[in-house]
Amino acid sequence: MAKVVCVLYDDPVGGYPKNYARDDLPLIERYPDGQTLPTPRAIDFRPGTLLGSVSGELGLRKYLEANGHQLVVTSSKDGVDSVLDRELHDAEIVISQPFWPAYMTAERIARAPKLKMIVTAGIGSDHTDLQAAMDRGITVAEVTYCNSNSVAEHVAMMILALVRNYIPSYRQVLDGGWNIADCVARSYDLEGMNVGTVAAGRIGLRVLRLLKPFDVKLHYMDRHRLPESVEKELNLTHHSSLESLTRVCDVVTLNCPLHPETEHMINPKTLKNFKRGAYLINTARGKLCDRDAIAAALESGQLAGYAGDVWFPQPAPADHPWRRMPHHGMTPHISGTSLSAQARYAAGTREILESYFEGRAIRNEYLVVQGGKLAGVGAHSYSAGNATGGSEEAARFRQK
Ligand code: NDP
Repeated sequence: MAKVVCVLYDDPVGGYPKNYARDDLPLIERYPDGQTLPTPRAIDFRPGTLLGSVSGELGLRKYLEANGHQLVVTSSKDGVDSVLDRELHDAEIVISQPFWPAYMTAERIARAPKLKMIVTAGIGSDHTDLQAAMDRGITVAEVTYCNSNSVAEHVAMMILALVRNYIPSYRQVLDGGWNIADCVARSYDLEGMNVGTVAAGRIGLRVLRLLKPFDVKLHYMDRHRLPESVEKELNLTHHSSLESLTRVCDVVTLNCPLHPETEHMINPKTLKNFKRGAYLINTARGKLCDRDAIAAALESGQLAGYAGDVWFPQPAPADHPWRRMPHHGMTPHISGTSLSAQARYAAGTREILESYFEGRAIRNEYLVVQGGKLAGVGAHSYSAGNATGGSEEAARFRQK
């Protein structure tokens, strides 16, 4: 019997939903590169319902208990008195998600002697100390592709929201105002602008494809070049350095994982190389950016806008400067956890658990760490080391 500890975000303030805005989800069989959607033997949930909060339990309880395992689900993850810390000592598997991350630091891993696997129900395993997992021989897996397209849609939305000054204009409506000049004094067309992505992986490439019809000039920076046919199809300009990309782009979107190589890649020095008045969208990870440098660049006008849904730590303390800096379009971390995405990552988590318990290989594309080294998607997109430093600050969050 295995003990599985699953950390999920809180239920809605008004209680777990009794009904939903829509009755079904569109049927999608494959991701754009041909990878199949998750293939668990069965699911015990209705796609389109809230699975990612505590009462949704990722739809796992029936399956785990029927197979004699114990499931503990909690949102209590920060501080020494958290339920997560209390339950870790005999846990075999920890399931967490990036939206409300259970930071699996080296200290926590050391306090979990039976821990064999950490599953990210989503994409982005930077909240786990990958070096500590490698050193202990713990498997780390994530549900690759489950929400890449969801995030890309969010990026497209945020680019348009910033460039066209949507959020302040919407606020005029809520506030009963009608000053058109106030709304449009910062409003532009996206058409013709230079738009660049840092990383053209699953999300970055999708963003490029979604933006193509806006007649923008598309750029990307990545360690590996895309196939020539894709570069031609999208009329892409490749840059081999961040500086080269940011010098020409009006809009920059970050779409690489957080790992020691990318931590704080946007900082006071690199921000100087942006065009004055550029827009920066970051739905990848908060720690790719130096927190105070972003706020300062918005104050000075070096950046015209910043939007995204990723912070560090999460949840962000009430006094996090990104809550109050000017010209931002921040949301809590939601882009990869639409109801549509939840159905995919709940099924993917179940697939990973079935493989583990049945002694079958976990899909290579889901692996981040296995056998003491980076593996699968981890070997391609991450670098060894730890990016969880400072996560204890999440304990300062207090809900109003
Ligand atoms: P992929 O693995 O498909 O793509 C990641 C890309 O990043 C790869 O192309 C990789 O390049 C590139 N990359 C890695 N390091 C660097 C670097 N130093 N410089 C430039 N490029 C680099 O992942 P996804 O596109 O699906 O997801 C990307 C990230 O987005 C996730 O790791 C996660 O942090 C975040 N995310 C956020 C979500 C949200 O809800 N906000 C949800 C899902 C993901 P190469 O392979 O060429 O080395």
